Amino acid sequence: MTIPVYTMTAVDEIPVIRERLRRAFRTGKAKPIEYRKQQLLALAYMLQDNDTRFKEAMMADLHRPATEADFLEIKPTITEAKFAYDNVSKWATPESPALSFNWFAMKPTIRKEAKGIVLIISPFNYPVTLLLGPLAGAIAAGNACVMKPSELTPAFSALLAELVPKYLDPEMYVVVNGAVPETTKLLELQWDHILYTGGARVARIVLTAAAQTLSPVTTELGGKSPAFIDPKCDLKVTAKRLMWGKITNAGQTCVAPDYVLVPKDFVDKFVEACIKTLNEFYPQGAEKSGSFARIISPAHFARIKAQLDATKGKIVYGGSTNAEKKFIEPTLVVNVRDDDSLMKEEIFGPVLPIVAVESLDEALEIVNSRDHPLALYAFSKDAAYKAKVFNNTHSGACIANETLIHVGAEGLPFGGIGPSGAGAHTGKYSFDTFTHLRSTLDNPGWLELILGGRYPPYTDKKLASLALLFPALPPRGGSRKWGPWLLAAAAAAAGTGMLLSRRPRFLGA
Ligand code: NAD
Repeated sequence: MTIPVYTMTAVDEIPVIRERLRRAFRTGKAKPIEYRKQQLLALAYMLQDNDTRFKEAMMADLHRPATEADFLEIKPTITEAKFAYDNVSKWATPESPALSFNWFAMKPTIRKEAKGIVLIISPFNYPVTLLLGPLAGAIAAGNACVMKPSELTPAFSALLAELVPKYLDPEMYVVVNGAVPETTKLLELQWDHILYTGGARVARIVLTAAAQTLSPVTTELGGKSPAFIDPKCDLKVTAKRLMWGKITNAGQTCVAPDYVLVPKDFVDKFVEACIKTLNEFYPQGAEKSGSFARIISPAHFARIKAQLDATKGKIVYGGSTNAEKKFIEPTLVVNVRDDDSLMKEEIFGPVLPIVAVESLDEALEIVNSRDHPLALYAFSKDAAYKAKVFNNTHSGACIANETLIHVGAEGLPFGGIGPSGAGAHTGKYSFDTFTHLRSTLDNPGWLELILGGRYPPYTDKKLASLALLFPALPPRGGSRKWGPWLLAAAAAAAGTGMLLSRRPRFLGA
């Protein structure tokens, strides 16, 4: 293994780093699209060239199986950088808004400008995806960036600190390593944008600090993501996808199905299918398997174990734990009530509470009485069932018959709603997050013909001429299809007529 030593950045050095980045950003070196493309490609190659070292680091930190590291972290992040590389020219092109009769002559344009010096703070669970994925958006948008990976993944964070200066422009992209004191120092500084991914407790600290410096923040948080189970689902496939969503990274996934809602008389069949699947996944048991990760830290292990120990439900599969190895077996718990210890906070571990419900309406009631989740899953072959779930809930994403992989779906934003987060990233949405939409107009002198009515001394005639610039309302009760067209045509005709009749006076003749 070739993992470098984890070293925290000196707290005093942090303002110096930010200043260095600011100076480099001001030179305008990231304005040319070619520069950004070169950095994006370097980012992709950093991951590809060091694929084995990243996998070793994740094995050291999380006991992360190589398949999970490859399928859910390294390959998707390379793809993310390549997607930005392929599209940055298009994304960065200034846009014109939809043609407007009032404004077109002033050439309204939206310039896509870098926000400036941005900060990305990431959690431990998907260290590559959640730090370097958004970084691709920050680079594509032309920003300088400080990356703050989690102190809970020292092997990954040390490797990143070693590789970033070798591959990326060190004047523009810097890794700051550290825990609370270092992040606190970072948050004392003003940032042109902060992307924070992590738990709600720390999010409150980040948002409070950002309020002092007026730094804009995108929050990517977590919560309890539910799964609705319809007896009319493909049970075998449902059990596979659901169990995979739960056991991946030992359940330490922000969009992992946290709990399931199953009709009472379907629970036994559902549990039987889940157990069969888990036995197929881990024929010798999860502890001996090379395909199962470990809990990141003793504190997280203790938190999950305490939730499990306090449950009033019945464990029907798994339940064993090993504190020394930070191992928690994939565990299924039935007879879980809405007020159980397993239903209080995000589990973030391989434990699945199964809540029996009388009806879909009761399941909806349970979900809707809680915070809006980051993801919501419905397993069913019935279109009406899926539509009822999607149409009567709120969540960051709503997914039918799948778990987790929507995060990587090209073209879809990834983000929460309310307590599960504000804002979104991945693909173009990352670019947008780190881009300032700068409006521009260039008003020619001859438009005084139309806008001259705004100047004092104010008169009724001037007021009437200005009123023509604003659209009339459709008839009360809503528009008929022909209504807006007739009104627009009448207003345009009246406006043109008035202007023509007044032209000499406007020109001072
Ligand atoms: P965390 O909130 O403990 O830590 C996240 C980051 O905040 C780390 O970089 C950490 O160093 C920093 N931090 C910790 N304490 C701090 C403090 N007092 N002041 C300033 N910074 C501090 O999160 P975690 O345990 O690493 O990750 C788990 C949480 O993240 C879960 O709730 C999960 O749902 C959420 N998550 C969300 C997403 C998403 O995209 N929405 C993705 C992954 C994880």
